[in-house]
Parts: sequence; structure tokens; C-alpha cells
Amino acid sequence: MLKVSEITAGYGRTVILQDISLRVGRGEVVTIIGSNGAGKTTLLRAISGLVKPTAGSIEFDGQRIDRLPPDEIVGAGLIMVPEARQLFPVMSVRDNVLMGGYHPKVRTGMAQRFDEVLDIFPRVRERLDQMAGSLSGGEQQMVAIARGLMAKPKLLMLDEPSLGLAPIIVQQMFDVIDRICKSGTTVLLVEQKAFHALKIADRAYVIENGQIALENTGIGLLSDPHIKTAYLGI
Ligand code: ATP
Repeated sequence: MLKVSEITAGYGRTVILQDISLRVGRGEVVTIIGSNGAGKTTLLRAISGLVKPTAGSIEFDGQRIDRLPPDEIVGAGLIMVPEARQLFPVMSVRDNVLMGGYHPKVRTGMAQRFDEVLDIFPRVRERLDQMAGSLSGGEQQMVAIARGLMAKPKLLMLDEPSLGLAPIIVQQMFDVIDRICKSGTTVLLVEQKAFHALKIADRAYVIENGQIALENTGIGLLSDPHIKTAYLGI
């Protein structure tokens, strides 16, 4: 479904990603782990069209997307939930969630979709009239994912959804992501919380210094000696 082939990308003259290749099959949950500054967010930005690769190609659903503007990539069904949620804090939870459904390609059936999405997030439903900025970190993350689901993603990319959340909330967050995956949405998950993220992954990649250092099944990486010491603290 998604095929990233040998891309190089960065900011100005600074090269961050070098020769990165990865693939995500339909229905798969693929995780990317890596430490701070490894280039995980830059990779998601490159796939979303926010950073233009200087070499290589990106295909989605059989179509080359690396030269398309971000709104056309969204229209193709590739949706990113950004790191640190990026909600509109002085708008209601309702409006923040609905904002995800405004692309012309997904606008029809918005009310029904809104209801279906809220079924996944009962806590969000309870708080629809509250300002988004007044929610807890975990609740805000749920709103950000709900907004992403409103866009009918064929592939949902989640950038560090557990960032800044208390351990008990992190577990709830991964339970929700697991449910979204099991309902048939293809997911590309970027995380530093390697244990949880690998547990729910069909396959996973490790990014180190802007390059793919390892690739395996989620379970395979959980038992890999390098991953155990470098990412799991075992
Ligand atoms: P983290 O887990 O800390 O978010 P990451 O793996 O997502 O890290 P990136 O955010 O992709 O890493 O950053 C990779 C490198 O790119 C870092 O060295 C960062 O300083 C640099 N970088 C990120 N955004 C920009 C930018 N807009 N301009 C210049 N350099 C940037």
C-alpha cells in the first residue's frame, strides 16, 4: 500500500534521512522506533508531503505521491496525526474532531462518521462542548486520533501518540490503537515507547541516525539483543 524507496530528505542543506526504504501492506500495523532526533517525524513529514525528498520515491496505492502537495496526499487517504496533537485549544472538542472531516473527498456522510468515531472514544463524546485546550493530555491525544479518523484514512500515521502521557494512560492509548488496527485501518506508528509499540506491530523498523538500522516482525525485534539493551532497558 505504501512503498518508500531509497529516499533522502532534510531541512535546507541538512540531510536528516538517508536512503530510507520501507513498505506498509494493506491491513498491517507497522511501527518505527528510534531515539530522539533519529528522524522519525521527518520521515512521516516526507510521506505526508510536508518535507520534499531530494532523492528516491514514495508510492501510495500504486500512485507516486512524493511530488504531490500535502492536501492531495490527504485526499488520497494518507492521514497523519502529528506529534504533540496540535489541536486548536480555544475551539470546542466537537469542532476539533469535525475539522478532520472537511476534505472535499470525505465530506459526505460526516454526521454518521462523527457518530462512529465517537463510539471508539466515549470520553471524547462526553466532552464535546469543552474547549480542547482544557482536556488532559490523554484526552487531547484521543481527540487528535478521532480527528484523524474523521478523514477516512486508508493509512493512519501516528507520531508518538504516547508522548507525555502517564503510564496507565499509555496502556489505554495502545489499547485504542490496537482496536483501530483490528477494525481494519492500516497503521504506521512512530514511537519511542518501544515495548508497547512493538507488541502491537506486525512488522517494525528501527531508525538510527536517519537510516534504517533493523527490520523485523514486532515480536522478532522485542527479542533482539540490541533492541533489548538500547530501547527496552533490559
Ligand atoms: P523525536 O523523537 O525527538 O521527536 P525524531 O526521531 O522524530 O525525534 P525528527 O523530529 O525527525 O526526529 O528530527 C530529526 C533531526 O532533524 C533533528 O536533529 C532535528 O533537530 C532536525 N530537525 C527537525 N525539524 C527541523 C527543521 N524544521 N529544521 C531544521 N532541522 C530540523
